[in-house]
Amino acid sequence: MDRTVVLITGCSSGIGLHLALRLAADPSRSFKVYATLRDLSTQGPLWEAAGSHGCPPGSLKTLQLDVQDADSVAAARARVTEGRVDVLVCNAGRGLLGPIEVHSAEAVGSVLDVNLVGMVQMLQAFLPDMKRRRSGRILVTGSMGGLMGLPFNAVYCASKFAIEGLCESLAVLLPPFGIHVSLIECGPVRTAFQGKVQDGLDAALDSADAQTQDLFSQYQRHFEQVFREAAQDPEEVTEVGARPGSGSGRYVAAMHRAVFGDKPAEGPEGAQAEPGAGELGRPESSAPPAAPK
Ligand code: NAP
Repeated sequence: MDRTVVLITGCSSGIGLHLALRLAADPSRSFKVYATLRDLSTQGPLWEAAGSHGCPPGSLKTLQLDVQDADSVAAARARVTEGRVDVLVCNAGRGLLGPIEVHSAEAVGSVLDVNLVGMVQMLQAFLPDMKRRRSGRILVTGSMGGLMGLPFNAVYCASKFAIEGLCESLAVLLPPFGIHVSLIECGPVRTAFQGKVQDGLDAALDSADAQTQDLFSQYQRHFEQVFREAAQDPEEVTEVGARPGSGSGRYVAAMHRAVFGDKPAEGPEGAQAEPGAGELGRPESSAPPAAPK
């Protein structure tokens, strides 16, 4: 039987790395995972962990892919030897922390570029083939910050709110193509993410007014406490990512009916939009690629 081909962005660390391992080491041996990294020189930890997780030979391959670079996306797609991607995981992301007035235009652009434009670029590269094949899953690492604004995370939240709209719009459209969109709205997760957003922050903060600096200190204390007491391990998020398909997609089904007619979202092969938890659309009868059990 053909293995399910999964391509994941942002596998140097954190959720992407753990999801790649979880699928490559799945006892069913039914996945071929393309773990992509912006910079291949950072692939050491992934391979070390693959060894200790017992990923079987041929279950995991790394590719260079920078979501900000269309040529790199196209080159990675061309190196998928199966000639298809059944499950696309848009996970690469970047944060930006601090008062909005201290952010450089470059930093703001970069967050929007990675988190939003980069994802659009991935979809443009992989969706047409899924549509042709009338089958596919798109899994997106969203955030609670895409559902509610968080102080000192305005630009990051804006990018994750944007992803909500992007995914929901696609989820309404794609059921007739047998394509299923899932968005994982993570709360705090223990990864390298928070450390990366602190880079260069102290120097930038000096230019903010005293009251804002004081509020930022309070925010940091609150945030550290939340991470200490409530953060999840990436393995827990990975389990949700590995089992998309439970929860409510009522809005998606209702919007699909309102726009495209009152009958179920039926494509040539009978795909249907149905409610499902944590997911945005659920084409049941077109047998989307398997998720691990
Ligand atoms: P992470 O360990 O920092 O992982 C982020 C990954 O994205 C890294 O591999 C990073 O690569 C990659 N990336 C950054 N820019 C990229 C680009 N231009 N092209 C390709 N890859 C790029 O943090 P994480 O927590 O696992 O984050 C994964 C996703 O979860 C993100 O979308 C994040 O917004 C979301 N999330 C995280 C949390 C949390 O609390 N950790 C909460 C909610 C949502 P480099 O190492 O090369 O920079």
